[in-house]
Amino acid sequence: MFDLRDLYQQVIVDHNKHPRNFGRLDPCDCEAEGHNPLCGDRLHIYMKLDDAGRIADVRFEGEGCAISVASASLMTEAIKGRTSAQARELFEAFQGMVTADLETGADEGKLGKLAVLAGVREFPSRIKCAVLCWHTMKTALEGGGTARTE
Ligand code: ZN
Repeated sequence: MFDLRDLYQQVIVDHNKHPRNFGRLDPCDCEAEGHNPLCGDRLHIYMKLDDAGRIADVRFEGEGCAISVASASLMTEAIKGRTSAQARELFEAFQGMVTADLETGADEGKLGKLAVLAGVREFPSRIKCAVLCWHTMKTALEGGGTARTE
């Protein structure tokens, strides 16, 4: 039997084992640290913006659980080429999906591949792992510093 959850699981495992856009970006236009003390996840996000305000490149480094690494990997793919405003919109949609604030499925179409992380809403302790990279990305766009999820 084909199970969508198995497929989602495979995508998460793949992105954890082979994270996309992993590494340092030097020089970069903005960067931030992210720390999720509950789980111990640490991320560093680097971004380059072009003249039109688009995210020309984004990379991340860090160590954390499978969910935090897979989420960061998926996020870098999702926001590359988008404007910072679009990246913030995606952040809102992603946060809505994993915290289930929104009507179920309301924004999942817009989220595309990121929807594989929808399952974390059933594991409240994992939600912070999934959103850590997004908070860190937002902090970087807002001038840098350290994002903490508590
Ligand atoms: Zn974690």
